[in-house]
Amino acid sequence: MSKLTNGFDCVETIRKGTYWMPFTANRRVRADPQARLLTSAKGPYYYTPDGTELFDTLSGLWCSPLGHAHPRIVEALKTQAETLDYAPPFQLTNPQTVHLAERIAGLAPDGMDHVFFANSGSEAVDTALKIALGYHRLRQEGQRFRMIGRERGYHGVGFGGMSVGGIVPNRKMFASGMMPGVDHLRHTYNPEHMAFSRGQPEWGADHAEDLERLVGLHDASTIAALIVEPVQGSTGVIVPPVGYLRRLREICTKHGILLIFDEVITGFGRMGENFAAQRFDVTPDMITFAKAVTNGIVPMGGVIVTDEIYNTFMTGPENAIEFAHGYTYSGHPMATAVAHAVLDVMEEECLFARVRALEPVLEEAVHGLRDLPAVRDIRNMGLTAGVDLVPAEGAPGARGLAIFERGLREGLLLRCTGDTISFGPPFISTPEQLRGMIDGVRRLIQSVS
Ligand code: PMP
Repeated sequence: MSKLTNGFDCVETIRKGTYWMPFTANRRVRADPQARLLTSAKGPYYYTPDGTELFDTLSGLWCSPLGHAHPRIVEALKTQAETLDYAPPFQLTNPQTVHLAERIAGLAPDGMDHVFFANSGSEAVDTALKIALGYHRLRQEGQRFRMIGRERGYHGVGFGGMSVGGIVPNRKMFASGMMPGVDHLRHTYNPEHMAFSRGQPEWGADHAEDLERLVGLHDASTIAALIVEPVQGSTGVIVPPVGYLRRLREICTKHGILLIFDEVITGFGRMGENFAAQRFDVTPDMITFAKAVTNGIVPMGGVIVTDEIYNTFMTGPENAIEFAHGYTYSGHPMATAVAHAVLDVMEEECLFARVRALEPVLEEAVHGLRDLPAVRDIRNMGLTAGVDLVPAEGAPGARGLAIFERGLREGLLLRCTGDTISFGPPFISTPEQLRGMIDGVRRLIQSVS
């Protein structure tokens, strides 16, 4: 069978359920599969089998800031496939992977000079948690086993990431398999004080004191690491209050707790800087990354660590493996080749500066939705925004779902989780496209209200 099809021929297979779709209401999709098919993509648009053009309001899943089918990346993939398509990463490496580590370290805050590669955000997070455990053990503090996450945090779906994550539906089915010793800080969102905030809210930095409370409860000597998304993405763009991340940093430093910034969404320009760490001027001990580093084209993730962490591992007997961890595809040459092309384009086209220029355009446009009675909150920062809708009477999530499904017919690929719409458009978007996106959302909200 031909691999390239117009999409119509797979409808029956979807109906049968042969393909079990991830994070999807499968039964709903099986009832109307055709409505959920994407068959091609170019620039900031996706196309459906019947040729409908959809503006990509979330850069795929926050991962394609350069848009789709970028010729430079297509070329890099082809060249790499012809030169070195795979190389084992244990005991061996290849030049482009080494250079990529150097390049990523160069983008990270000073003193974060070491990069460990994985293949996804989930793997990056689990790697970081394991680095934290190993680091403490090597320092004769192996009793530090507790991990702290946050309510509403999303850190992927591995056992580690799921455990430190704070999204209830993602946790409850697997409650029996959670990592032991995990606790959570409260999330920082309080609509009473923060509704319709632009950029960082002034209110809420005192939530960082939750960490002191957990230290008081568990004793600092048992806590290994705190993991936070600088801006919580998956739960609808929850922006940290002014001073909050800095205070977390102070408390972690005071108690010897490692601070991990999960920058799977915010890394590589989404906040208008290399990493959110630089935007908020707070340096963690580790940064996890994924998504945008390869523009979503091939999977890649990784962890950037401080010199202190790396050097701690580089002790012990000569010739011993210092960190018994890694993946068959760590630093995959296809992924690293793509990442180089992505970073080249980002640099040459000054795309992080473009994000900074687009931020006020998106802010102005999205906050213009405030007059709609069905909108109960709007937040934004960098090239991200979240819009909360008033849930329909007795049917939470129904309004969000209706908007998502209608958007597919009316030219917008939207990300709706419950009744929250998240925006993370491509960096290559024009101001007109951003305004058009919000105009389209206005019409959709009106049509389902
Ligand atoms: N961490 C964060 C902050 C994320 O947003 C995500 C994905 N949305 C992940 C981890 C997991 O990444 P992946 O789906 O690539 O495993």
